[in-house]
Amino acid sequence: MSWDFETDPDFQTELDWIDRFVREEVEPLEHVLGSPWNIHDPLFKQLVRPLQAQVRARKLWACHLGPELGGPGYGQVRLALINEILGRALFAPIVFGCHAPDSGNGEILAHYGSEEQKRKYLEPLLDNEIVSCFAMTEPQGGADPSVFTTDAVRDGNDWLISGEKWFGSNARYAAFFIVMAVTDKSVSVHKGTTMFIVPANASGVSIVRNVGIADDPEATHAYLRFDKVRVSSSDLLGEPGEAFVVAQVRLGGGRVHHAMRVIGQAQRALDALCERALSRTTQGGLLAEKQMVQEKIADSWIELEQFRLLVMRTAWRIDKYQDYLRVRKDIAAVKAAMPKVLHDIAARALHVHGSIGVSEEMPFAGYILRSFQMGLADGPTEVHKVTVAKQILRDYQPSDSLFPSYHRPTAAALAREKYADALATLEQSGEQR
Ligand SMILES: Cc1cc2nc3c(=O)[nH]c(=O)nc-3n(C[C@H](O)[C@H](O)[C@H](O)COP(=O)(O)OP(=O)(O)OC[C@H]3O[C@@H](n4cnc5c(N)ncnc54)[C@H](O)[C@@H]3O)c2cc1C
Repeated sequence: MSWDFETDPDFQTELDWIDRFVREEVEPLEHVLGSPWNIHDPLFKQLVRPLQAQVRARKLWACHLGPELGGPGYGQVRLALINEILGRALFAPIVFGCHAPDSGNGEILAHYGSEEQKRKYLEPLLDNEIVSCFAMTEPQGGADPSVFTTDAVRDGNDWLISGEKWFGSNARYAAFFIVMAVTDKSVSVHKGTTMFIVPANASGVSIVRNVGIADDPEATHAYLRFDKVRVSSSDLLGEPGEAFVVAQVRLGGGRVHHAMRVIGQAQRALDALCERALSRTTQGGLLAEKQMVQEKIADSWIELEQFRLLVMRTAWRIDKYQDYLRVRKDIAAVKAAMPKVLHDIAARALHVHGSIGVSEEMPFAGYILRSFQMGLADGPTEVHKVTVAKQILRDYQPSDSLFPSYHRPTAAALAREKYADALATLEQSGEQR
């Protein structure tokens, strides 16, 4: 029997160090740097590289990885405790070497990459000497892969990739792209697509434009075009037709890692809500004394704690079963829950701040927009809710009679039959109940 909500004291020491380091050294970076993935920026080299060195020296680099790939192999529960702190700061994931999409792309390379691919792409990626892009979504649709048309056709020992991809995050800084392409149109998209590694400087690759998101300092989501881009058979990741199996390796972990970080973002919004409620006076009293403001604080705390427990339990189940398929329902549930938790807490914080809350001087509009991003990236909320429902329904059977199994008259008749002897004895005795 073990239901434990405590952190080992040794590990708590590490968490305390991370918390202080993120608040003091990492949070300020977002006010002077642009995109965290722009590793080519001279100021990035000057400000971020020394912090990464400190994280490495503390042996906290790439905590999502096992020792075989140079990480500490903490598992998901410890990673969740770290990630919820890192979620507070835009630059924290890259300072700690566990930033998406490189973390997931690295997992794919570790699982499916050849020795040559690992040497060429995985090693520099893990060291953050380069960054990468995952190109799956297409302009005509993301939530439904059956509309994907980017294809790869064989040309001797090579393949020629043609088509367009949409919202390829960080493509402009990336050294290579992991590209999903249709290779067999005669079967379903889930069996007929293949994953390729495409160097960013390959002939025929172009960025049509970089798409920005409202408050982001730089436009970083690429509309990509591939015009007969030649890659060789050694650039395949996994076998032909296996793209969705390969993608699942990154998406399962990636979704839960986002959820861990969302705890930190929502906590930051709740911290701001509480500070403001205790600081601002209106109509003769502090905001914190008004019951409708108290309700906002209470609801936010309750929702955040519920979400955190769900994330932690999911992390615990991943560690226990070491099988993402077995934890599919849990991961889909945290993925579906996170946009709403972040949205609702950030919206309350914005509201309680009044006019300054909606202004660009406060981060709340950015948090709210991010909540919508969280509901789209790595698959939309609706799709994950459908997954949760389907998985739940597997544990149920339909009723084979006209009325449901819990129909009260039916249940009462069965109970009378079950206790017939006792009921008959009581009746014969004439004893009153
Ligand atoms: C910040 C961000 C970063 C991203 N980075 C990448 C990346 O690096 N690489 C990449 O390949 N893609 C990336 N994406 C794209 C992401 O995967 C897609 O946005 C997502 O798959 C949804 O596709 P779509 O945008 O085309 O929306 P659509 O598929 O057009 O969906 C439109 C609407 O329909 C809803 N919907 C979907 N299914 C259902 C349903 N069954 N019932 C009801 N409503 C439904 C969606 O939630 C959405 O509101 C990123 C997206 C964002 C926002």
